[in-house]
Amino acid sequence: MSAQHTGWQELRCKMEPIKREQVIAKYLSRTLDSQSVEEFEGHYLGCDECFDELRVSEHMASELRTSKLAWKQAEGVSVLQFRGAATLTHSAAELDELRREVLEQSDSRVIIDLGRVTKIDSAGLGQLMSCYSHLVRNQGTMKIVNVMPEVKKVMDMTGISSLIGTFRDEQEALNSFRN
Ligand SMILES: [Zn+2]
Repeated sequence: MSAQHTGWQELRCKMEPIKREQVIAKYLSRTLDSQSVEEFEGHYLGCDECFDELRVSEHMASELRTSKLAWKQAEGVSVLQFRGAATLTHSAAELDELRREVLEQSDSRVIIDLGRVTKIDSAGLGQLMSCYSHLVRNQGTMKIVNVMPEVKKVMDMTGISSLIGTFRDEQEALNSFRN
């Protein structure tokens, strides 16, 4: 890296807190020019203050972003759907969101629509299991619908699809609530 006497690298953190906030906000919203992006990226990796601040801001920004999940009601049952393609893997934001949504809602009859979930791993399976046990503990139940082949394979292999009722589509699951 070339030594620039005006670069952030050498300033360590002489950046004013307000200036830092502005740079980070612009960096996260991708409105910094490429030169500044390069300088900032070169800087924050070596600067604890900026690094921490960036992580906090990033976290807040992701909380503010529209939820990846949405509830709807069908025949008195709460159906949780993903708004877009999603993965239920250990580092995915969807995992936390799924848990929050299921644990915070009060309806005990829940259908999880996995129609847009392209991938699942042990963390995802664990989360589904903990949602399921939570509902069962509260005299409720959870059913899973629209499972994609890749995800179904993993769920079948681990026996989870036979433990948690798994149905082809929403209507089938709704019918099963009536029986
Ligand atoms: Zn800094």
